[in-house]
Amino acid sequence: MKITILTLFPEMFDGFMSNSIIKRAISKKVVEIKIVDIRDYTKDRYHRVDSAPVGGGAGLIMKCQPIVDSINANKEKNSHIIMLSPRGKTYKQERARELSKMDNIILLCGHYEGIDERVNKYVDEQISIGDYVLTGGELGSMVIADSIIRLLDGAIAEESISEESFDDNLLEYPQYTEPYDFNGEKVPDILYSGNHTAINKWRRKQSLNLTKELRKDLFDKHQLTKQDKKLLDEGKEKASWELAAIEKGKKFIK
Ligand code: SAM
Repeated sequence: MKITILTLFPEMFDGFMSNSIIKRAISKKVVEIKIVDIRDYTKDRYHRVDSAPVGGGAGLIMKCQPIVDSINANKEKNSHIIMLSPRGKTYKQERARELSKMDNIILLCGHYEGIDERVNKYVDEQISIGDYVLTGGELGSMVIADSIIRLLDGAIAEESISEESFDDNLLEYPQYTEPYDFNGEKVPDILYSGNHTAINKWRRKQSLNLTKELRKDLFDKHQLTKQDKKLLDEGKEKASWELAAIEKGKKFIK
């Protein structure tokens, strides 16, 4: 897959591309990332890429010409062009999975007060990464690129992405590491049983209960199987640290 990022701040992507899974995916040629400086395309004598909004108002708006020229110079036959925008559809894991099937994506990052409205005609889709306003689209495009790249074949182990939060509208079950006893709180014994059917059942039940308590909106979209219903009916005594984690989660999730 090829991801091209159009930005006025190319240096913001240095850290993103030179660490961890993304760095490895690039070196293994799982993904090619091209960072394009929109400023290189300006035809303005002073290299300006923005100007004051027509009609007055605060801040600066990114101008059409450098953006449209940078799109045209970098798009290929199969490019899907996405503009980062608070106006876009809110980004979800489901869209990440769909985008990860594409071969060629262009991410256009706005900055300052935004982008001249007439650029909309040159993009295929607008995406928002949430209901808040960022300084620019750079962080958003890293969010989108990251969520796509980790789904590509060869980026990470297949099992790591086969059962994750949001798949099937459920949150992931709790995970533990050694030691068994940390400050008096113990790893659930079932996880030491070696019985994978029982472990999977326990994990599914945790996943169902957590989603029901913390993300009722997701839970309501999940199609309950017969087995799910049975697991939910069983109920369960929760350890004190599990209850504390749920209470903390609830405080911040409406
Ligand atoms: N004046 C705009 C408004 O009120 O909608 C906000 C512009 S914002 C400061 C500058 C750029 O950051 C936007 O053009 C967009 O590319 C990016 N941006 C800001 N918030 C975003 C969000 N929630 N999702 C995606 N991109 C965002």
